[in-house]
Amino acid sequence: MAAVVCRKEYCIGCRLCEVFCVAAHSGVGNLLLAWRQVPRPRPRVLVEEKEEQTLAVQCQHCAEAPCLEACISGAMVRDAATGAVICREDRCVGCWSCVMVCPFGAVVPHEAGGRRHALKCDLCAGSEAPWCVAHCPNRALVLVREEEAGCRPTT
Ligand code: SF4
Ligand code: SF4
Repeated sequence: MAAVVCRKEYCIGCRLCEVFCVAAHSGVGNLLLAWRQVPRPRPRVLVEEKEEQTLAVQCQHCAEAPCLEACISGAMVRDAATGAVICREDRCVGCWSCVMVCPFGAVVPHEAGGRRHALKCDLCAGSEAPWCVAHCPNRALVLVREEEAGCRPTT
């Protein structure tokens, strides 16, 4: 199991993690083309700000994941190979139960083309590393593995 963790002392609030998350999940693999898509794909990592402090927030792939328990349609599943909690968007019915129970606010409710479904970090499955980690200019985002990951506070 692994999760991306934000080291808040290094986060400079540039939001490049959001930009590269959009590119990673756009299906076009190109930053500029991804940004021009209509509707624009939404990031699965969100940078929050409080006064001078910024922090990138995303799924922690909890060992005991409330979203897995709450999902009414079987859309939220744990990947057997990686241990990541992923949303099968084709199964999602958009009830937002997962949005309500996630202690990190890491599930993004998404609506497009008359369809609702949850969006969340999938650790950029199939990539060498999550794009947000690979492109964070100040190395605030790190991929933490095994026992260090799972439902611990990031603030
Ligand atoms: S952080 Fe939220 S979305 Fe991620 S596994 Fe935990 S409850 Fe689910
Ligand atoms: S919004 Fe989708 S993924 Fe979330 S609990 Fe409902 S059906 Fe499951």
